[in-house]
Amino acid sequence: PLALAVATTSTTCPYCGVGCGVTASLKDDGRISVQGDAQHPANFGRLCVKGSALAETVDLDGRLLHPQVRDAQGALQQVSWDQALEQVASKFSAVIAEHGPDAVALYVSGQLLTEDYYIANKLMKGYIGSANIDTNSRLCMSSAVAGHKRAFGEDLVPVCYEDLELADLIVLVGSNAAWCHPILFQRIAKLKETRPALRLVVIDPRRTATCELADLHLPVKAGTDVWLFNGLMSYLAHRGLRDNAFIAAHTKGFEEALAVADAECADPATVARICKVDLQDLLAFYEAFAETEKVVTGFSMGVNQSSVGTDKVNSIINCHLATGRIGRPGMGPFSITGQPNAMGGREVGGLANMLAAHMDLDQPLHREIVQGFWQSPRIADKPGLKAVDMFRSIEEGRIKAVWIMATNPLVSLPDADLVQRALQKCELVVSSDVITQTDTNALAHVLLPALAWGEKDGTVTNSERRISRQRAFLTAPGEARGDWQIICEVARRMGFAGFDFDGPQAIFDEHARLSAYRNGEADAGGAQRARRVFNLSGLTGMDKAAYDAMAPIQWPVQRLSDGSISGTARVLEDHRFTHADGCARFVPTAPRTPGHAVCEDYPLILNTGRVRDHWHTMTRTGKSATLASHIPESFIDLHPQDALLYGVREGGLARISSRWGAMVARVQHGGGIPRGNVFVPIHWNGQSASDARVGAVVNPVVDPVSGEPEFKHTPVAIEEF
Ligand code: SF4
Repeated sequence: PLALAVATTSTTCPYCGVGCGVTASLKDDGRISVQGDAQHPANFGRLCVKGSALAETVDLDGRLLHPQVRDAQGALQQVSWDQALEQVASKFSAVIAEHGPDAVALYVSGQLLTEDYYIANKLMKGYIGSANIDTNSRLCMSSAVAGHKRAFGEDLVPVCYEDLELADLIVLVGSNAAWCHPILFQRIAKLKETRPALRLVVIDPRRTATCELADLHLPVKAGTDVWLFNGLMSYLAHRGLRDNAFIAAHTKGFEEALAVADAECADPATVARICKVDLQDLLAFYEAFAETEKVVTGFSMGVNQSSVGTDKVNSIINCHLATGRIGRPGMGPFSITGQPNAMGGREVGGLANMLAAHMDLDQPLHREIVQGFWQSPRIADKPGLKAVDMFRSIEEGRIKAVWIMATNPLVSLPDADLVQRALQKCELVVSSDVITQTDTNALAHVLLPALAWGEKDGTVTNSERRISRQRAFLTAPGEARGDWQIICEVARRMGFAGFDFDGPQAIFDEHARLSAYRNGEADAGGAQRARRVFNLSGLTGMDKAAYDAMAPIQWPVQRLSDGSISGTARVLEDHRFTHADGCARFVPTAPRTPGHAVCEDYPLILNTGRVRDHWHTMTRTGKSATLASHIPESFIDLHPQDALLYGVREGGLARISSRWGAMVARVQHGGGIPRGNVFVPIHWNGQSASDARVGAVVNPVVDPVSGEPEFKHTPVAIEEF
């Protein structure tokens, strides 16, 4: 690709939710150089190995550069944009006319920029009139969203990265931050050097790289986190360590939640037995939490990706509410998001059960506000299908046309063979992507070439609510277009007004204005309310120059009387929550076991996750020789004694199978896996040398509140291949 300019461009890393700033520049030899941005407050110039290798991934090998449509023989043919867009718009319109708006769906991605996400959501909920738009963020942090909404009344992350630096105890639950959020982990490592009194507790069934820094590792049995945190709540409450004044003034439901916690978890010895941790270690954790005022509890996929994920989140939040440790420096529950723009997607209502600007589909006042602001012909009035149900509905023939953007569900969803059958049956599968050959694209009828990182412009929001600009520094290759442009073109062809934007700045402005529109109305109590913390009023009215120059800033954002813009590092400092009465809610979390238990036929628990140097289904990281050298192929990691028991040997190929599917990979040891568990990375796919789609093995059971799948607990069998 050609560089746009020789000048250095500040932008944001496209990988994890840490949201590091990078600078891209053109070297004398014509190649691109990517460095850490010393000015960006997420990373202050540091980059992990993935961010450092970004320059190796911006070539055009394998790029989808022109619209393609499958002909009657099933071969993809290059067509004009007009032909491709017309086919999408006319088929979507025809399906809606014949079967209604719920017969079409959009499946989008945390890889999209906020502006793209906003337009996709507006098209689906305000114009098509269905909420059948969901995102791969459903697979990642929807349990955290649901937990936040239950506890706070809004999807709020009450801490910022600086709180890690101010904490005296950091608890990481279900998070291998050393590999998955490396720059955040490096910040913690540096703190441990300079402030040895800082303690780190890691709660994870695996002994991961993150544990190397831990003062205490609790290797909990997979799926038992609720017992552990209910036990903590009970411990705190009955030793006089709860904050009664905070509970009385700012919360509701303490006694009910405590009664549920006490029912099974009042005895630490029982909790230790259920969680399979050493009693003394459990008590050491409870005592550390009890005696330390400044505690940040960071949690990630090990908590969220569970059929009890939302309850896990609330059991953690309950402990912070019980001690009043929230909304103050150095303390609070902290959802560490996976994707670069998982939070931006939440802000614009990219999930099937949300409206834009943190408003709710089930509140008539919110629907009226959004429809009134958009002046749209209709507004979805019930939640749409969440990711797993969406593809099940396609397989059952109820959804007849689906448009997939910037994601590869045939690899990443659970029960991925069902996804394959679904797309094979679907009347129209559209895929907007940057890569031609993916497992999903092999089944698409229409391929739309999208701009990639480095070519597109917009914003992303990281784990600490910080909005940063992604800026283009490369020319658009071939005929690729921004996702927002493609969606607007289809919307116009479907006959919808409201999609005449001349760039991402105009979309961002509309998004910011919607966040402020009638915000605060009807806040006197009762079932309906419009007050929400999410508010970008300070970012409205930016012209292109101001948008281009926009510095990273944390929402909510206000404009001060002197005209300057002010972000917010920490929300809930006033302890005024978004529930109508201003109080937070304790949520009773009765412990439940995972959706499917191990049995004689499937005696091992499959846990899935990331490796250090790859990302998602490897369409970008797979291009980098540096990154590929860390772990060159997929693997099945298990305990050496289990390998002996099941007749597989290190270095040999083995097949793991579940009731849903099977995959083959090489056996290895050394990943800190407890007896009875196996771990397989999520990245490898059907385009790799071996078909190592672990999604085909993963059970499709989901959390009943969030709809997030249980990627961390599938009963499997293993045999030599
Ligand atoms: Fe990119 Fe995350 Fe690494 Fe930062 S920590 S450089 S955002 S992958």
